[in-house]
Amino acid sequence: MPGKEQRLATLAVHAGQRPDPVTGAIMTPVYFTSTYVQDGPGKHKGFDYARTVHPTRLALEANLAALEGGRFGLCFSSGMAAISTVIEALDSGDHVVSCHDLYGGTYRVFTKVFQRFGLAFSFVDASDLSAVEAALTAKTKLLWVETPSNPMLKITDIRALCDLAHARGVQVCVDNTFASPALQRPLELGADVVVHSTTKYLGGHSDVIGGCVVTNDQAWFDKLKFLQNSVGAVPGPMDCFLLLRGTKTLPLRMERHCENAMTVAKHLLGHPEVARVHYPGLAHHPGHEIAKRQMRGFGGMISFELKGDLERAKRMISMTKVFSLAESLGGVESLIGHPPTMTHGSIPREERLKSGLVDGLIRLSVGIEDVEDLIDDLDQAINRSLAVASL
Ligand SMILES: *Cc1c(COP(=O)(O)O)cnc(C)c1O
Repeated sequence: MPGKEQRLATLAVHAGQRPDPVTGAIMTPVYFTSTYVQDGPGKHKGFDYARTVHPTRLALEANLAALEGGRFGLCFSSGMAAISTVIEALDSGDHVVSCHDLYGGTYRVFTKVFQRFGLAFSFVDASDLSAVEAALTAKTKLLWVETPSNPMLKITDIRALCDLAHARGVQVCVDNTFASPALQRPLELGADVVVHSTTKYLGGHSDVIGGCVVTNDQAWFDKLKFLQNSVGAVPGPMDCFLLLRGTKTLPLRMERHCENAMTVAKHLLGHPEVARVHYPGLAHHPGHEIAKRQMRGFGGMISFELKGDLERAKRMISMTKVFSLAESLGGVESLIGHPPTMTHGSIPREERLKSGLVDGLIRLSVGIEDVEDLIDDLDQAINRSLAVASL
C-alpha cells in the first residue's frame, strides 16, 4: 500500500515487522533454524540456508534500512564484521582515505589486516577538507569517516565531504555509530554506504554485539550481500531479536541521551576543576554550526579535560558510583573511561597529544538515568580525586 512516508519513531517500532502469518504473534519470531524444508530440489519459500537468508535477520535488516532511510540493509555478527565486509568489497591496490581519530578496532583492521592484502590507507583530519583533498590519489576508491569522532567529538561536514569525493569518483562510507540514525542520516547527505556497530545505541542495552551496513546503491548492495554470504559473519537469531527490541525505543532513548548530555556538558563547562569540554552541542565547539545543520541532536558522548595529572584522571574515573568504568558506549547506563590508557592506550603519548588526547582526557557515555544523579556523581568523584591529590 503506497502511503505517506512514515516518520522515524513509527519506523523504529514497525518497519520490517509484521505479525507472524501462522499464529498472529505480534513480535517477529526468533527462528532457531539453520535450514528449511524444500518441496522439491530448489523449490522453497525463498529460504534455503540460514547463512544466506534468515527470517529474524531479514526483519532486522529491513528495520535498520528504514531507520537510515536506505533501500538495503545487511546485518553482521559485529560492527567490525560489517566494517571488514565493506573493505572486502575493494580490490588489492585500492587506496582508502580515513579520518585519523577513528575507532581503534577499525584502525587495527585497516593497518594490521587489510594492508597485508595490498590495500593502502591514509589517515587525515577529515574535518579539514583540504587535508582530505590532498590525500586523494588516482587509486583512492573510498573515503572513510566517523562523525562525531572518537574521543574528540570532532564534526565533519558530510555533505561537503561527499561533494568533494564524488567529484573525484570516490565513494564515501560513514560509520554512524556515535550519532545513530535518530540523530544523523548520512545517506541523505550524500554518503554511499553507512555502517554501524549496532552493539552501541541501536541495541542500546549493552547486551548484544552486532553490526550493519545500509546503502541505497544496488551495486554496493549486490557486492556486500555476496560477501555476507561468502564470508559468513552473520548474526544469530537471538541477537537479531535483541536488536529489534532495542531499535523500537531508539528515538525515545536518543532524546534523553541528548538532553542529559547537554546538561552534563554545561555543568562541566562551569566546573573549576575542568579545563576543557568537547561536546558538539556547546556553542564554542568548532563543529557546532555543522552539527546543528546535519544532526537532529548532539548525542550522548562527551569528553572533557580534568585538571591535574594522569594519576588524578585515573583516580577520578575509579571513584564514580553511577557511571561505570568500562569500554563501549550507547547503552541506557552511563559509562566513564580514560581514552589515553584505555581505548587509545596503544597510541604513543607524543602522537596522542598531537590530536588533543591529553593525559587528563575523560570520556563519558551519558545514559538515560536522572541527570541530577549523574551530575552529583561526577562532582563527588572530581572532588574526592582532588582531596587525595592534595594529601
Ligand atoms: C564499537 C565500535 C565499532 C566496532 O563495533 P563492534 O560491534 O564492537 O565490533 C566500530 N565503530 C565504532 C565507532 C564503534 O564505537
